[in-house]
Amino acid sequence: ALTTTELEDWLRRAAALLTDHAAELTELDAAIGDADHGSNMSRGFRAVVEALDAGDFADPAALLKKTGMTLVSTVGGASGPLYGTLFLRLAGATGGAASLDAAALGEALAAGVQGVADRGKAAPGEKTMLDAWTPALEAFRGAGDDLAAAVAAGAAAAAQGRDDTAPMTATKGRASYLGERSVGHVDPGAASTVLLWQALADAVS
Ligand code: ADP
Ligand code: MG
Ligand code: MG
Repeated sequence: ALTTTELEDWLRRAAALLTDHAAELTELDAAIGDADHGSNMSRGFRAVVEALDAGDFADPAALLKKTGMTLVSTVGGASGPLYGTLFLRLAGATGGAASLDAAALGEALAAGVQGVADRGKAAPGEKTMLDAWTPALEAFRGAGDDLAAAVAAGAAAAAQGRDDTAPMTATKGRASYLGERSVGHVDPGAASTVLLWQALADAVS
């Protein structure tokens, strides 16, 4: 099961992966947005790492809440409130539990993904991060009780979901200004979502 220590490991790995892939994320955003997704995400997760270094967290909920609040306050742009809401909802769903098994993480992720949909007023098929989160969540919950296997299934589905955004026409966020001209490009938020799943897979394997 995921403890506070493993959640911390996840977030630190996510920060490293997002920093390593910042140029790539920004390049995706240059094609259909405003070329800042890589810098937004690496700045936000750098601040999360600083908060982890400075803080002492009693339980997963405290850690996840701090993460969400840090992302909301340090990431400019649409992705800050969206990822922030995801982590705040994860925090809310864990209650005071000391660790999360696959079933508990599945429930928490479901609440988080619903939070992204609510906050973004978005649904799958609109070429956003939800197109990676939604299939990932479904695969994760369908994979059974083994946490590492379930996360691996979620990460693979997220990557497929990211790739499947290429032929979509964006109808939410900045990319929607391009309309049909957004076709042929992968959504940057779907790509950063895959990195979060990869980091989680690395943390639980
Ligand atoms: P901004 O578009 O403000 O510059 P970012 O570039 O950091 O912010 O993030 C853009 C990403 O946010 C998009 O690629 C998309 O995945 C996601 N996004 C934008 N608007 C929405 C929305 N309404 N619902 C869900 N996701 C969204
Ligand atoms: Mg942008
Ligand atoms: Mg921006």
